[in-house]
Amino acid sequence: MTMLPPPSPKKLGLVIDLDICVGCHACAVACKEWNDGGQFGPLPDENAYGREPLGVWFNRVHSYEIEPAETTGPAMTVHFPRSCLHCETPDCVTVCPTGASYKRAEDGIVLVDADKCIGCQLCAWACPYGAREYSQERGTMQKCTLCVDRIYNETLSEYDRQPACVMACPTRARHFGDLGDAESKVSKLVAERGGYDLMPEMGYKPVNKYLPPRPRRDGCATQAAPAREEKVDLSTASPLLRWMDRILSR
Ligand code: SF4
Ligand code: SF4
Repeated sequence: MTMLPPPSPKKLGLVIDLDICVGCHACAVACKEWNDGGQFGPLPDENAYGREPLGVWFNRVHSYEIEPAETTGPAMTVHFPRSCLHCETPDCVTVCPTGASYKRAEDGIVLVDADKCIGCQLCAWACPYGAREYSQERGTMQKCTLCVDRIYNETLSEYDRQPACVMACPTRARHFGDLGDAESKVSKLVAERGGYDLMPEMGYKPVNKYLPPRPRRDGCATQAAPAREEKVDLSTASPLLRWMDRILSR
């Protein structure tokens, strides 16, 4: 059993806009690229070029088609990026028998200490969001670190101190910030757009928030209006223009 720290005022996390995510997987690939140090990074590739490549992804993108009955408009496709939500009261931490899974008191990031992990996978069973990834080769659990090695890295420019997935997103569907500060950009975005928790009934209190897709316009309502016939007064036009009009009107 591992104890959680008291709730921190600072709650770092992601806000993901389902309205504009196009499901391109750039976030998942950028995450892999930043975190994959072969055998040494937190996100290992195993037998990457072999017959049965294994490996770990901290970020996965799923696509769903929503039927018209479930929306107010036509059928729509929603792309749903999924990674650790850095929950406030996560059982993935409390079930850990060795203290390998822990939540940081200073900013709320949930991490795994690989040196303490015995690979029992209890945390993966406890996570209702499927955010834990087990490395077969290492025998330890891995998970999204919120790019903790980027966001506090003073050798990077301030702009670059954001998670790799946020930096890579071409539509700017991902935002990073302090969701514990009501005045932060991410908190204001959540308030404006009605951002919500994933599966709040589980009681894990995810820090990450999702912004809902906006209703799509009905294609029938946007059909082009019939072309308007324009009357031109030719009595004052030049002879050449009158001749062209006669020819083209035949
Ligand atoms: Fe733990 Fe899963 Fe919540 Fe991440 S999403 S903190 S792994 S319960
Ligand atoms: Fe990957 Fe970092 Fe994004 Fe987590 S925050 S999914 S580690 S890129």
